[in-house]
Amino acid sequence: MTQKKNIAIMGAGLVGSLLSLYLAKRGHKVDVYERRPDMRKTTLDGGRSINLALSDRGWRALRGIGIEEDVRKVAIPMHGRMMHDEQGGLTFQPYGKEGQSIYSVSRGGLNAALMNLSEPNEDITYHFNQQALDVNLRENQVQLRNTETEEIETIQPDLLFGADGAFSVVRGAMQKTERFNYSQSYLEYGYKELTIPAAPDGEWLLEKNALHIWPRGNYMMIALPNIDGSFTCTLFFPYEGERSFAAIKNDTDLLNFFLEVFPDAVPLMPDLAQDYFSNPIGALVTIKCFPWSHDGKSLLIGDACHAVVPFYGQGMNAGFEDIFVLDQMLEDFDGEDWNTLFKDFERRRKPNADAIADLAVMNFIEMRDKVADPRFLLQKKIEAKISEQYPDKWIPLYSMVTFTDFPYSYALETGQNQDSIMKKVMKHIQSIEDYNKPEVQQLLQEQLVHKEKLKRYAGETSEVKE
Ligand code: FAD
Repeated sequence: MTQKKNIAIMGAGLVGSLLSLYLAKRGHKVDVYERRPDMRKTTLDGGRSINLALSDRGWRALRGIGIEEDVRKVAIPMHGRMMHDEQGGLTFQPYGKEGQSIYSVSRGGLNAALMNLSEPNEDITYHFNQQALDVNLRENQVQLRNTETEEIETIQPDLLFGADGAFSVVRGAMQKTERFNYSQSYLEYGYKELTIPAAPDGEWLLEKNALHIWPRGNYMMIALPNIDGSFTCTLFFPYEGERSFAAIKNDTDLLNFFLEVFPDAVPLMPDLAQDYFSNPIGALVTIKCFPWSHDGKSLLIGDACHAVVPFYGQGMNAGFEDIFVLDQMLEDFDGEDWNTLFKDFERRRKPNADAIADLAVMNFIEMRDKVADPRFLLQKKIEAKISEQYPDKWIPLYSMVTFTDFPYSYALETGQNQDSIMKKVMKHIQSIEDYNKPEVQQLLQEQLVHKEKLKRYAGETSEVKE
């Protein structure tokens, strides 16, 4: 048993709330400071439902604190992508093998569930309306402002975790230290959330068990189902240009544009103009930094050290995986040298955080553009066949990221490798039947030999090997 520490977590978002449970489980006393009011008592985001895709890495971390089953009850499985073309025609593409799905969960609901689970624990205390203003890393002191009373307080925990998201104040303090690497890069796209309400009988107006995509070349809309029968749609759209947020100035521009490019969605969106002109445009940023810790006293986690764009649906999953990996490392930790522990953790996670950041940007192109291409869909079918025939030598990249616990960096590298083989295979393919052509089979046999490495991982799915 390690020595009990007084730990402060900045941020009671998804990662901070889950982290509190894991740290308390290890015997520590945890105080969680959150800038916003208690979300369980107030309506944030104007009462809009905002959802997220939860996949295997996230589930594994929820399982670790015994909340998996409760979340599953309110999670909607999405078995694949449903593509909507400009005439309203539909094409379905499964995400993985039979039984493999990603799950739509309410962001607020999941966050509240984590808080409800942690709050009765006498070693966990939430402090709402407490905004971290400044951090003195040398003394491990945090200056907090009570956003209701304006009172200022300074705390000095033994250990400080920065789970305060992409614009982390804890990271801000680290950025002022020597040899701290930092980069942020924005896409020239923003996003806006819109709604497809439930039918009057509470049913879903589109296929419930799918993630809907309206791919339109350089922009797209997606929709994920909510438990109340509605869908939360997200329009990913350029800030500037002929077709952009800037070009839509009034209701007429909006309606003309939507009728032209998303005609099947318009009748399902009675509040389109209201939603569009009242909801904000969100920015899409990738943040990378290193190191993630300072002097064995403070550590960044989740979006605070690796914010990624949302196109792989992995930001929260990656943050949850951080916690899971840290917890595994705590299992063997003697409680003495936190500096070495934090250094080991950041070295282990950083290549994976970088990989998912790059994968997420790459997937934007796939989602908004390639999924509308019949040749790409044929390629996906061929890939499913390869993976079926050689399960220990080929796992599609999307599946590796979403349905395994292989390190993201391994998934990226293996995916690039597979991609080069796929290009060769596709030279021989005009239709799905061509998969059985001798030259295709021979090519696969030759090329897949050196992918034995996958076999090792295939047998070891219970642990993250990095
Ligand atoms: P946050 O969720 O940002 O939480 C940080 C918390 O810290 C907040 O509660 C904030 O109020 C608080 N805070 C901030 N500053 C301070 C301060 N100074 N003092 C005190 N408290 C502070 N991920 C997925 O896995 N699947 C998806 O489908 C998915 N979809 C997404 C869609 C969109 C449009 C976006 C933008 C992101 C999406 N993500 C998704 C990513 C996911 O939202 C983030 O990775 C996740 O929320 C990170 O959790 P976090 O707790 O690290 O940070």
